[in-house]
Amino acid sequence: MSPKRIYNFNAGPAALPLSVLEEIQKEFLDFKGSGMSITEISHRSKWFDEVINEAVARTKRLFKLDDRYSVLFLQGGASMQFAMIPMNFLAEGRTADYVNTGTWSTKAIKEAKILGKKITVVASSEDRNFAYIPKNINYTAEATYVHITSNNTIKGTQWAQFPDTGNVPLIADMSSDIFSRPFDASRFGLIYAGAQKNMGPAGVCMVIIRDDLLKMVPDTLPTMLRYTTHTEKNSMFNTPPCFSIYTAQLVLKWLEETVGGLDKMAQINQQKADLIYGLLDSSTFYNGTADVDSRSRMNVTFRLPSEDLEKKFVAEAASNDMGGLKGHRSVGGCRASIYNATSLEAVAALVAFMKTFERNNA
Ligand SMILES: *Cc1c(COP(=O)(O)O)cnc(C)c1O
Repeated sequence: MSPKRIYNFNAGPAALPLSVLEEIQKEFLDFKGSGMSITEISHRSKWFDEVINEAVARTKRLFKLDDRYSVLFLQGGASMQFAMIPMNFLAEGRTADYVNTGTWSTKAIKEAKILGKKITVVASSEDRNFAYIPKNINYTAEATYVHITSNNTIKGTQWAQFPDTGNVPLIADMSSDIFSRPFDASRFGLIYAGAQKNMGPAGVCMVIIRDDLLKMVPDTLPTMLRYTTHTEKNSMFNTPPCFSIYTAQLVLKWLEETVGGLDKMAQINQQKADLIYGLLDSSTFYNGTADVDSRSRMNVTFRLPSEDLEKKFVAEAASNDMGGLKGHRSVGGCRASIYNATSLEAVAALVAFMKTFERNNA
């Protein structure tokens, strides 16, 4: 009997491709003829070397990264990057711009301020509860970087196009939409993403960093908090989160070989988003919370006419084998996270359920 799998709309940790889970299961007791599982192997072994090098190579191919970029796998989550970025790049006299588009941006700004760094919040969508991505932003010409959150997991908004910041490098928290679409990576000085939304299990954060930024890293920082420590050691200054990196490698292999790359992935993600937003637009029962031009293709946030109906919706969905539809505890409402590994079939099933629920409860 095959195990029961539900339609998983969790925001993070989130769904992984079934074929990846099956591959892990298949090779778990004997990884590549080693007679050990991947969790029992030295990170200095040839087996693990191959895993991490493949993960880096696939990332570079998928994003068309040139030689100036290093791909790192660090611990501490995306949240650690909120502090590491200003620590590494904002020496005395330097400043950075931040765009505040929600809960995670707010946390990134807070960390820079705790460190006493000089930053400017050049735009914010807080005035309307972060329902949109600000436009026509004036960036500071002498800023060391501009920090944005490419997809706002909790508020359900996403940058459709990345801003033009001239010569100032962009830094983006892509935790919840990395590998969901192609983009021009050469405009970015640094990209980071906790793995547990769109590329693997919790426990690892991908950091893609361009070499010109490495020149700014002060040697007064603790060793583990310096980017150069990790670029010099291929993310293996200390023991890396081996299992998380291994799983991420399999997810990237699935993206390249099964899905067929980021263009294909973006097409599928667009189809999924169109299905569910199409329903929101044709209904007066469901109300999307994000402005139409700022909608996320990863996290669809919506309200029902009452909180009681929202509770009933989440409960009935669960009894129909659809999980993870409750909105973030800080905002309420409902949220369907439709990351790469959530299939078109899952979204179609959700939309069918939503139509039935509306008929029975409107
Ligand atoms: C989940 C999330 C984070 C936090 O990630 P951790 O790995 O738990 O620190 C940060 N930014 C965004 C956009 C997220 O979605």
